[in-house]
Amino acid sequence: MMMNIVLFGPPGAGKGTQSQNLIRDLGLVHLSTGDLLRAQIAAGTPLGLEAQGLMNAGLLVPDHVVIGMIRHRLEECPDAAGFIFDGFPRTLAQAEALDALLEGLGQSIRCMISMVVPQPELVQRLLLRGKDSGRADDQNEAIIAQRIQEYQAKTAPVAQYYAQQNKWKEVDGTGSIQEIYSRIREAAGC
Ligand code: AMP
Repeated sequence: MMMNIVLFGPPGAGKGTQSQNLIRDLGLVHLSTGDLLRAQIAAGTPLGLEAQGLMNAGLLVPDHVVIGMIRHRLEECPDAAGFIFDGFPRTLAQAEALDALLEGLGQSIRCMISMVVPQPELVQRLLLRGKDSGRADDQNEAIIAQRIQEYQAKTAPVAQYYAQQNKWKEVDGTGSIQEIYSRIREAAGC
């Protein structure tokens, strides 16, 4: 059985950082829709061009775009020990599509780990990251606020979806990277 974990939380919660820890120690495949979209932009594909304007405005890209990317990556990695889903699913439609895709493979989500960080700290972290990463959407406070608003309106309800399946676990996303990582491993039971 694959170990499939959804890392969940608002922008700046530390999903990417903790994904790196999990894939290093558990040998899982990292599936970040944000990274996949940025790769499409860098390659100048039509999909990248379609997504770029929305991403720079702090808005979600359409469900069918990210679901198609995830389907593609799942098909490319039939022998994976499991997947860390980072930044996906971000809407209820995406969560339902993911369950259907995994069911088709005879697999399922083990748990969804929700990382909780107070909003002022999120904004500080993102602005700091923007200085190094060069990500346009991390450098402007109005865009950051828009991304957090998208999260609250469309993504936060996804936690409820996993709670109904008894798969939702909440962890404190503040403190040192190592402390947070230990909390995640404990919550995931792995
Ligand atoms: P991230 O790197 O996860 O912060 O994602 C950066 C941006 O990519 C987001 O603000 C969205 O515009 C877009 N994006 C990433 N993942 C998704 C998703 N699952 N659904 C819709 N849009 C996404």
